[in-house]
Amino acid sequence: MIRKYSGIAPKGDLLLIQKLCEKLKGNSFLHINSTREGGGVAEILQRMVPLLNGLGIDTRWEVLEGDAKFFDITKKTHNALQGNPERFTDEMWEYYYEVNKKNIKRLNLDADAVLIHDPQPAALIDFRKRPPKSRKNVWLWRCHIDVGHPATGVWDHLEKFIVRYDAAIFSVAKFAKSLPIDEFIVTPSIDPLSDKNRDLTKREINAVSDKFNIPRDKPIILQVSRFDRFKDPIGVINAYKIVKKYNDCRLILAGSPATDDPEGEAILNEVKEYAGNDPDILILLLPADSHLVINALQRLSDVILQKSIKEGFGLTVSEAMWKEKPVIGGAVGGIPLQIVHGVTGFVVYSVEGAAFRIRQFLNDPDMARRMGQRGKDYVRNNFLLTRQIRDYLSLWYCTKHRGKNVIEL
Ligand code: UDP
Repeated sequence: MIRKYSGIAPKGDLLLIQKLCEKLKGNSFLHINSTREGGGVAEILQRMVPLLNGLGIDTRWEVLEGDAKFFDITKKTHNALQGNPERFTDEMWEYYYEVNKKNIKRLNLDADAVLIHDPQPAALIDFRKRPPKSRKNVWLWRCHIDVGHPATGVWDHLEKFIVRYDAAIFSVAKFAKSLPIDEFIVTPSIDPLSDKNRDLTKREINAVSDKFNIPRDKPIILQVSRFDRFKDPIGVINAYKIVKKYNDCRLILAGSPATDDPEGEAILNEVKEYAGNDPDILILLLPADSHLVINALQRLSDVILQKSIKEGFGLTVSEAMWKEKPVIGGAVGGIPLQIVHGVTGFVVYSVEGAAFRIRQFLNDPDMARRMGQRGKDYVRNNFLLTRQIRDYLSLWYCTKHRGKNVIEL
C-alpha cells in the first residue's frame, strides 16, 4: 500500500517508514478518540489505520462511547481549554471520569503503543495495563487542540491524567505545556490518495455542482468546516458581504455534524438566519462521509477560507492547498504553519482583512494561481500522511527505547 505513495510523498519519509517498520513489525498500536466521523482526527485515523496495518503494524482504532451529558461536558472542556470561560462543577468531572471508567468494560486496552487522542478519553490512563517485564508498552497522549491559553482551572484537572502518560504530542510548538514527561511536536496531515484529496475528473466535479445546484457563473468563495463558533462562519459571511460590494461572487459554507460536537445544530441555525435570503450564499449541511463532494467543492472554488478565530491545526487549509487553491486563514493554531504569508496564501486577523485578501485574489488570478502552485509543493513536503506516520513510528520507537544511549535504526 505504501508503494502507492512513491512519486507523490518525499522519498526520505518512505525510506524511514520502511526502516521503522522493520523494527516495529508485529507490534500492536491502538488509537482511541471520541468520534468515528466528523472533524480532523477521525479524518486522519480513517486513512492512517489501514495503512499502518498494511505496513505490518497490528493497528486498531477504538472510539470512546458517551451520552449527550458526557459530550456536553467534554465540549465545554474543549471550549475552556481553547480559552473560553466555562463553569465546571465537581460533579461534571466525576461524570467525565465515570464515563471513561465505564468504557474500559468494552475497550481492549492491550497494545504495545496506545495513542489517546484529545481530552475526552484522557482519563483512560488510570486503567493502563502493564505487560510482562520483557515487553514494554508506551502510552502517548495526542493533543489536537490549542491548550496554550486555557481558561482558569480546566487544564489543572486534565493535567493530572496527562502527566501519567509516557509522552505528550502537540500539533504546534506554541500549544505545548511545561510537563514533566517528554513532549513531541507532530503536525497533522492529509492523505493525497483519499477521496477527499485525490485528483478528480471534470465530470466528477460537474456532477457535484449539478447535484447541489451550484451555478458556475461567478467566482466561488468556500469555507468547509464544522458549524462551530471558533471557525467563525458569521465572520466569513461578513467578509463576503464586504467583497460583494465590489466583486460579484458566491459564498459556499459547507459543513457536517460530528457526534462529539453537540453545539453544531444551534450554530447552523444561527448561520442560516444570518445569511438571510441572499441567493448567492449556499449553506450545505453534508453527511459526514462526503469526502468526494468536499474534494469537488474545493476544486470548483476560486478562493478558499479557513477564517478560524481559534484552531487546532485546520486540515482544510492543507486540503485546499493540495488542490492548488489560493487560501486565506485566520492567524491562529496551525494555520500560520501551513500558510506562509504572501507565499502560499494569506493569514488574516479580521473580517476586513479577509475581505481585502479575497478581493486581491479575485482581482489578480495570476497571483492566485502562483500561490496555489507553491501551496501544493509546500503540502507535499510537510503535510502528507506519510510524514505523520514517520513521526508517530519514530516517537513510539524513541519512547520505547528511552534511556538507552544509542538508538539504532
Ligand atoms: N470536513 C468534512 N465535512 C465537513 C466539514 C469538515 O469532511 O462538512 C473535514 C475537512 O475536510 C477536514 C476535517 O473535516 O478534513 C476538519 O479538520 P480541521 O482540522 O480543519 O478541523 P476540526 O474539525 O478538526 O476542528
